[in-house]
Amino acid sequence: MSVFTSTEPWHPERIGALALYCSDGRWGEAFDEFCHKHLQIPRYDRWAVPGGPAWLATPAGSGGFVQAARAQLDFLVRIHEVERVVLITHFGCAEYGNRLQRPPLECIPAQLDELNKAAHVLQDWYPGMRVETFLAMRQGRALSFHELSILGQ
Ligand SMILES: [Zn+2]
Repeated sequence: MSVFTSTEPWHPERIGALALYCSDGRWGEAFDEFCHKHLQIPRYDRWAVPGGPAWLATPAGSGGFVQAARAQLDFLVRIHEVERVVLITHFGCAEYGNRLQRPPLECIPAQLDELNKAAHVLQDWYPGMRVETFLAMRQGRALSFHELSILGQ
């Protein structure tokens, strides 16, 4: 006996794209809308963890995160045929606020730096992978997305 039947039909095709963003559920619908409507990646693989791309750019000494991330990504690249990764960091992220003990605006430079590091980590691991980086901002109740160029190391 099922308790619910989805109105969403099953689509077997994979889109080959993955988005890594923060698990903060207040942002989830906006991340989805951005990926669907702007990036045009329906059915993308979602990888939601606290801090999002911070997972790939953790400082030396917390390498366990990076190893776990690598193992999961290797699987997704191989089995889910991921060839495009979207990295999104968001304004007011509690992971940064807690780690840096700074208000939201003052966390942004560290977030952008780690976003860039995460992009380089991905490009090192998977040469040829298309990697894009975005900052999600909030002003009052309005949420907007800003693309960032990946800078050289
Ligand atoms: Zn967050």
